[in-house]
Amino acid sequence: MGLFKILFPKRARRHDDGRERTVPVEGLLAPGETTPVRVRRNPRARRISVRVDAADGAIALTVPWHTPVEEGIGFARRQRDWLRRRLAAVPARVEFADGTSFAFCGQTLTVRHAGRGATRREDAILHVGGAGEFVARRVRDWLKREARTLLGEKSRLLAARIGRSVKAVRISDPRTRWGSASADGTLAFSWRLVLAPPDVLDYVVAHEVAHLAHMNHGPRFWALVGELAGDYAPARAWLSENGAKLLRHG
Ligand SMILES: [Zn+2]
Repeated sequence: MGLFKILFPKRARRHDDGRERTVPVEGLLAPGETTPVRVRRNPRARRISVRVDAADGAIALTVPWHTPVEEGIGFARRQRDWLRRRLAAVPARVEFADGTSFAFCGQTLTVRHAGRGATRREDAILHVGGAGEFVARRVRDWLKREARTLLGEKSRLLAARIGRSVKAVRISDPRTRWGSASADGTLAFSWRLVLAPPDVLDYVVAHEVAHLAHMNHGPRFWALVGELAGDYAPARAWLSENGAKLLRHG
């Protein structure tokens, strides 16, 4: 404990630990061009790392506690070609606004912003009312509600088939996983699954429900996923190829 205190004095920790700040870096990707870099100092990081955040296309740099930020930026400069390739691979952003079309459970929905009142769907149109700056949030809220209902129903149905019960279903917006299961029977899913084709959503539900029986990724677990979801290989392939696109909606 004493050593820990000396290495990470309280005030400095409160100020820096886990905090991100954005630093404009000149000539990182091209001469004469300034690129914002999201810098995070992390006491647990052992080395400098840089990546492109699939959700927002930002360059994210992590530096260990005692490493000067300049050193981290120098490291990022040496990864220029790799960063350029990663940035080029970030899918286009789909912003929820009047006229935007997007996939919802395998169907195409188009946002129509007019008037006021609650968000409602009419066939292929999603009617959104209220002030223009809140349209994206209203669409997200509607999608989250739909996701909660759909994923809750599907989870309970599949769990009943294998004689297990679901304690609760939580909906959130994680960046690195589509679902999770905890030992107490709580399942969690990304609301973005309703943007994926139905068989992909079904696979993720089957995967998490199968964890209610097997808390591992062993052969018996995968056999059960196959029983619940059928041939799930195409759905897994779809997720690894297109998952980043789902993160770019909003
Ligand atoms: Zn799993």
